[in-house]
Amino acid sequence: MKKKIKNLVVGSGLSGAIIAERIASILGEEVLVIDRRNHLGGNCFDYFDNNKICIHKYGPHIFHTEIEQVWQYLNNFTKFNNFEFKPQVIIDGKPCTLPFNLNTLHQVFEKSKADFLEKKLVQKYGKNGKISILELKNEGDKDLKELSEFVYKKVFEGYTVKQWGLKPEKIDHSVTARVPVMISCDDRYFQDKYQGIPENGYTKMIENILNHPKIEIRLNVDFHQSDFEYEKLFFTGAIDEFFGYKFGKLPYRSLHFDIEEKNTEYFQNAAMVNYPCDFDFTRITEHKYFLGTKSPKTVVSYEYPQEFELGKNERYYPISNPENQALYEKYLQEAKKLKNVYFLGRLGDYKYYNMDLTVERALNLFKGVK
Ligand code: FAD
Ligand code: UDP
Repeated sequence: MKKKIKNLVVGSGLSGAIIAERIASILGEEVLVIDRRNHLGGNCFDYFDNNKICIHKYGPHIFHTEIEQVWQYLNNFTKFNNFEFKPQVIIDGKPCTLPFNLNTLHQVFEKSKADFLEKKLVQKYGKNGKISILELKNEGDKDLKELSEFVYKKVFEGYTVKQWGLKPEKIDHSVTARVPVMISCDDRYFQDKYQGIPENGYTKMIENILNHPKIEIRLNVDFHQSDFEYEKLFFTGAIDEFFGYKFGKLPYRSLHFDIEEKNTEYFQNAAMVNYPCDFDFTRITEHKYFLGTKSPKTVVSYEYPQEFELGKNERYYPISNPENQALYEKYLQEAKKLKNVYFLGRLGDYKYYNMDLTVERALNLFKGVK
C-alpha cells in the first residue's frame, strides 16, 4: 500500500516554501514539496552566472513592503541589502526618472513650463501627493489635463498596449495605479518602509526557508501526472488547471526574455529602463545592479510580453477584469467544497500579488489552517 503523505505542497515558489516551513516548524509535521520545474523558487528564481552576476530569470524582482510581520518573517532566512529601485523611462529618446515625478517634469519641459506645472500639481494634490494616470486624465484644469495627455502618451499607452495587449482604460485601473504620477522629487519606484534584495539572492532565501529536516523537496514532478495520497494539500499552481479547466481557462499574460551578456562594464544607467514608445520589448533589466556586482561584463534581459499559451510558456500575470474574476469565483466555489485542500499564491488565488502579499497570504493561511 502507498504511504499517505501528511502534507503535500504543490509548488516551491514563495507561497509553497512558506506554507511548508510553517507546517514543519510550528506543527512539527512532515511535508513533501513538489515542483514541476527543475528548480525551486517559482518566478522568484535567480542564479549566479559565470560573471558572478545574479540573474533574475523570470524578470526583475525587488522586495518592498510596509507589512511588519512579512519583513520580520523573511529576515529569519536572509539579510536584505539596501538596494533602492530607481528605474528610468525613455521619453523622446531620453532616459528620464520613473515614476513620472517633479524631477521628470523638469527633464521633459523647459524650466518656466515645468515650474508652472509643478506649482499647479502641488496646489492641487499637495507636495508628496500622488495620483494615478487615469485619474489625472479626468482633470478639469486645462494645463493639468494637457500634462496628463503627455504622460499618458509617452509613458503609459504604448507600454500598456505591449504589456497587456490593451489600452490603459481597458484594464483594471489598479494596474496602472501601481505606478502613479508622484508630486515629489523622490526618485524611488517604491516608497515602502522596507525594501531591498536578499543579499545572496531569492533562490538562496527560499532554499533557507525550505531547509528543515521535516521538509522533502522533489523537483521535476507534476502534480497532475502523479498520484500522491495525502492528508492535506496546499496547491500553489493554477486553480483552473487543478479542476481540469471545467469552467474554461483563466487568462494570463506571459513573458519571453532574451538574456544577453554584453562585453562592457555597464549597459545602462539603471537596473531597469522602460521603453513605452519604441521596440517590441517593454523594458531592459541590467542584473548586476541588484547586488552591486563588480564585473568587466554585464548581463541584460529584454522583456517581451506575450499571451499565455498552455504548454508553450509560463503563467506570469493574472488578468484582472470582471469577467475573469467571475470565472475565478466559480473555481473558488468548487475549491470550497473540498476538505483539506487549500489554494494560495498568484496562481492559486488568481491575484496580482507582489512578493510581500504572497508572503502575507501564506502566513495568514497557515494561521487559519492551524
Ligand atoms: P510562483 O512563483 O508562480 O510559483 C508557483 C510554483 O508552482 C512554480 O514553481 C510552478 O512550477 C509550480 N507548479 C505549478 N503547477 C504545478 C503542478 N501542477 N505541479 C508541480 N508544480 C507546479 N513582486 C515583488 O514584490 N516585487 C517585484 O519586483 C516583482 N517583480 C515581478 C516581476 C515579474 C515579471 C513577475 C511575473 C512577478 C513579479 N513579482 C514581484 C511577483 C512575484 O513573482 C510573486 O509574488 C511570487 O513569485 C509568487 O509566488 P508563488 O509561489 O505564489 O507563485
Ligand atoms: N506602466 C506603464 N509604463 C511604465 C511602467 C508601468 O504603462 O513605464 C503600467 C503598465 O500597464 C504596467 C503597470 O503600469 O503593466 C504596472 O507596472 P509595474 O512596473 O508595477 O509592472 P510589473 O513590474 O508588475 O510588471
